[in-house]
Amino acid sequence: MPGHRLLQAARRAFDGDLAVFGGPDIVPGLAGRVRAAQIEVVHRYTPWMMVACITNACVLVGAMAQTPKFLLALVWAGFVCPAAAVIYVRWWSARNAPPRSSVSPRAVHRTVVNAAIYGLAWGLAPILFFSGGSQTTDLVIVCLCAGMMCGGAVALSTIPVAALVATAGISAGAAFAFLRAGDGLHVLVGVLLVSYTAVLVKSSLSHANVFAARMLGHIQGEQQREVIGMLLCEFEESASDWLWEIDASQRMVHVSARLAALMHCPMDALVGKPFTEVIAPCADAFENMMNKERVELIARLHEGSPFRNLAVSVVVRGERRLWSLTGKPVWSVDGVIEGFRGVGTDVTEARAAEEKIRHMARHDALTGLPNRVFFYDDLETALARLKRSNEAFAVHCLDLDHMKEVNDSLGHASGDAMLVAVATRLRSLMTEKDTFARVGGDEFAIIQAGAASAEDASILAANIVQCLAGPLVVNGASIALGASIGIAMAPSDGTDADTLLKNADLALYRTKHTGRGAFHFFEPEMNARARARRQLEADLRKALQGNEFQLHYQPLIDVSSGRISGCEALLRWQHPQRGLVMPADFIPLAEETGLIVAIGAWVIRQACWQAVTWPDDIRVAVNLSAVQFRSPGLLAVIRAALAETGLDARRLEVEVTESVLISEKETAEAILGALRLLGVRTALDDFGTGYSSLSYLRQMPFDKIKIDRSFINDLMTQPDCAAIVHALIGLAGSLRMSITAEGVETHEQLTHLREKGCGEAQGFLIGRPGPAAQFAALINAQSGTGGSAAERAAA
Ligand code: C2E
Ligand code: CA
Ligand code: CA
Repeated sequence: MPGHRLLQAARRAFDGDLAVFGGPDIVPGLAGRVRAAQIEVVHRYTPWMMVACITNACVLVGAMAQTPKFLLALVWAGFVCPAAAVIYVRWWSARNAPPRSSVSPRAVHRTVVNAAIYGLAWGLAPILFFSGGSQTTDLVIVCLCAGMMCGGAVALSTIPVAALVATAGISAGAAFAFLRAGDGLHVLVGVLLVSYTAVLVKSSLSHANVFAARMLGHIQGEQQREVIGMLLCEFEESASDWLWEIDASQRMVHVSARLAALMHCPMDALVGKPFTEVIAPCADAFENMMNKERVELIARLHEGSPFRNLAVSVVVRGERRLWSLTGKPVWSVDGVIEGFRGVGTDVTEARAAEEKIRHMARHDALTGLPNRVFFYDDLETALARLKRSNEAFAVHCLDLDHMKEVNDSLGHASGDAMLVAVATRLRSLMTEKDTFARVGGDEFAIIQAGAASAEDASILAANIVQCLAGPLVVNGASIALGASIGIAMAPSDGTDADTLLKNADLALYRTKHTGRGAFHFFEPEMNARARARRQLEADLRKALQGNEFQLHYQPLIDVSSGRISGCEALLRWQHPQRGLVMPADFIPLAEETGLIVAIGAWVIRQACWQAVTWPDDIRVAVNLSAVQFRSPGLLAVIRAALAETGLDARRLEVEVTESVLISEKETAEAILGALRLLGVRTALDDFGTGYSSLSYLRQMPFDKIKIDRSFINDLMTQPDCAAIVHALIGLAGSLRMSITAEGVETHEQLTHLREKGCGEAQGFLIGRPGPAAQFAALINAQSGTGGSAAERAAA
């Protein structure tokens, strides 16, 4: 139904709907406001158009004065001029009324009707007066028609239907008059006029569309601002942030209550104040000028570029605060900056907390020294410097020697105090450029900046060793700690962090194994050693399945009778390539790797199996490592070994060193108690070399003390050693413990011990450790009439 659709389109066009002409689609809610703006423009042109109407009508009357149509011209003007005058007067009386924000389609209808009347009145002019006078009057009429068409199109351009009816009316009248005149030239002028009309209508249409689109944008922007304003009000009431707004001259326009409160200043006192004054870090203009963030903020405001979370320090009542500011320029429709608007937050506390967290992440809480993360970062920096400008440096890995014992014997609080004291002492030995970090419990690491030669590094290392060699007094206790150090030089020992640290660690390993309280430099052969160690570890893992372990037995004699009372089982490793490996070469590794638990269990079972083959009065002693002593399965292993072999528990003895007593005393006591309940005897091995005091002896349920061989070694030459041995013999007697002297190598030693009343002795003089068969031969000889070699030695 094209006819119906056309009618509908005409109706919509009559209502001022621009979509009909390809203009913007305006939602009903906004159409009234757009219409008001369109009409407003028409109103602005109204007085000019009316004056033009009256003037032109008078000109026409004048032109027709000498013609027969003068009277008709007067009648025509008699309608046109009063009508124009009435419209002018109406405009005049309404000129000061406030512009209406929204108008109904009726206002558009009225304009279109008025435009139609205008078109009709001026369209009649050529029909009535053309060819009615001279050629000159015709020229006047053509000019009037063209002028009124243009004027109407411009004045009504915001409402295209009105422009259309006005111009089309005049154009139709003129075309009719020219065609009626009939000659070719007139027809050409008619064509000209019609083409003007087309151009005028087209330009009015596009102007109307642009105008409407712009209006729409403007209205929507306003609405958005209203919504934003509402949201911001709500924001200001709820969040901890505050809003700020400044005008083009950077003076505060909007001051939120929160900002006023922060500034300790009434809101109105802040309005109009220059923004840069509000955010002044301090009263000193020069210092303000040097404040980097503030300078940036001012630059941003100046160039009109937005910024986000710019932290500016501000002084409020003498207190320095940190404000985070975010802002965006506010642009006018013409593209001029009208000011800035944004949010601000006081981030003083948040930043301080962040700073603290950052510090904590990179520092050791106890000593305040850099931690491992910090150290790695600095190491990377030092390596970068090395690459860039060839600055050599040294990496020291440092271990405190007796930290574990300190913790165990004095408690962790003292251990901590000790670490702090050590950190302070050592820091004083280094320069500002060096990095001194705590990288583990009792491990420290140093990047010695500018250490070009081994000599530079050894001076620092020697200072550290010496500094910790003397006793430290912590919580009233005087403790000798000692430090072990390993050093790797960059670039000679490595040019990347991991290699340098690994090599310094290998050097430290060397120090620990060749005597603590010293330092060593990394040497390439340490790598080979480390490899060998790894190989040994791999071999050790296979040794149990490979049946490569065996036990040697060393006899113990009763000093007074000289008879063999038992033996100590000592582990040997028959390595397929290396041959016989002694415990000192693999027990520490087995302890480190935890393999000792399984190996130790094998020792217990093996010793029990051997012991049942010997006479009932011969005891067997096995050594227990600290790791094994604390392993949860120990008691079960012993019970099972006894049950399996049928060995009387009283014939089995376990030897532990003082190290097992130091940490977790209660646990150690409980385990010893449980062993005693089983009937197994317990012996305290290597007594005198460890850290424990004599007081342990009173508390711990041992059956036997074994005096370390170092005391026996010096027994005859060093009076203090002899004194200690005598005292121990006495003490053991009073505590009803038996006592064994280890490492007896000479007759003098044995005689001396016998005189002093020592119960048992063990040592090369009595017998070296040997295979089971060798020990069996010894006891067999003893049970024979001749007595054993041991007896002979003892005699
Ligand atoms: P230890 O328990 O003090 O064992 C005694 C060590 O002293 C043995 O060394 C023995 O050969 C040596 N010895 C005995 N009499 C003399 C002497 O008159 N003069 C000298 N200079 N040395 C003497 P060995 O067999 O090399 O064992 C060393 C250490 O290995 C043992 O010291 C013990 O701590 C550990 N060990 C041995 N077997 C085992 C074991 O089965 N398990 C555990 N956990 N440790 C073991
Ligand atoms: Ca032992
Ligand atoms: Ca021993």
